[in-house]
Formats: sequence, C-alpha cells, structure tokens
Amino acid sequence: MSVPPYLHFTQIGDPVLRQIAEEVPPESIGTVEIDQIVDRMVKVLRHYDCVGVAAPQVGVPLRIIVMEFREGKQEQFKPEIYAERKMSTLPLAVFINPELEITSSAVNKHPEGCMSVRGYSAQVERYERVRIKGIGKLGTPSEMELEGWNARIAQHEVDHLNGKIYVDRMDVSTFNCLSWQQINAAEGRSAIWFHK
Ligand SMILES: [Zn+2]
Repeated sequence: MSVPPYLHFTQIGDPVLRQIAEEVPPESIGTVEIDQIVDRMVKVLRHYDCVGVAAPQVGVPLRIIVMEFREGKQEQFKPEIYAERKMSTLPLAVFINPELEITSSAVNKHPEGCMSVRGYSAQVERYERVRIKGIGKLGTPSEMELEGWNARIAQHEVDHLNGKIYVDRMDVSTFNCLSWQQINAAEGRSAIWFHK
C-alpha cells in the first residue's frame, strides 16, 4: 500500500479532503520532507495535466498549493471558451501557508471540475479577482494578484486547505458526468480512470 504524498489524487470521501489542513511550521520550511512534498505535487500536477493541486489531494494535510496554467494548455480550449472564462497563462506558482484576499466583489460563474471528484463538473460562482500571499517556492513571488480563471484556480485550491470541495459551492442542478454521452454511445461500457 502506498503512503502519502501519493502519485494519484485522493477522492471525495477520503477524510483528508475534509479536514482543515495544518500550517507548515516555520522550522519545516526548506526541509527535505517539505521539498519532496512540493516536488511530488508539481509532478502530479504535470502528469495529470491539470491546473492546480492542494496537498490534501495527494494525501498530505498541510497548507501547500501548486498552480500552473501552462502556455500549451490554450490549445485544449475553443478560443471563445478561453476568452469567455478569462483564461490566461500562469507560470508555476507554489505557495506554502497561503492567505487569500478577495479584491473585487465581482463574481463569475463557469464550469469547474476537480481531480478529487474525477469525471464530473458543475457551474460554480467565484470571485473575479484575488490576492494570494504566502511563502513562495520554486521562484514564486510571495504575493500575486490573480484574475479570471487564475483567480478561480486559487480559490478552488485554498478551499481544499479548508476542507471544502467545489461540490459544496456548486449550482447543484448543473452537476454532470463528463462522459454521459459516451456512456450512451458505448451502451454503458465506459469507465472513469483514477490514474493516468
Ligand atoms: Zn480540486
């Protein structure tokens, strides 16, 4: 049996996703143990080609998040979707003990998913602009202003540190299985994979 930090995503129902993650103690910052957790999170983020990972998603109840919206990701979206959701490139950002501040009361609503609720999506309302502060790692500044989709990513990941999952905030009637059409076409012979 594997032990955290995992190379897969913990799934909803795992208690680690519902607890309030602990602050990383100052004396632990810069230790091999924390560096290895960060490295593992970046590895998982890139392997699964997603845009954010919070430590509880690899089974570690600590306040660490990684985010990245890599340049090439734009090709995965139709131009109108990319524009409508205000997506933009975000270089790798790693925060230990992040604090999130809402900097605009404006909100937007878009489809959101989570690797810890694999295979589903729903509309979620999020704030348009945020400021995130914390201990930056791997070249991340200690403070960043984010807007649009990147502000959404930060809100989603910081939620994970507080035991919150997007399903707690979603418009319930929009919750959907991403492969529902394929399930019909394949007469039910379809599966959700938890590894890649
Ligand atoms: Zn998530």
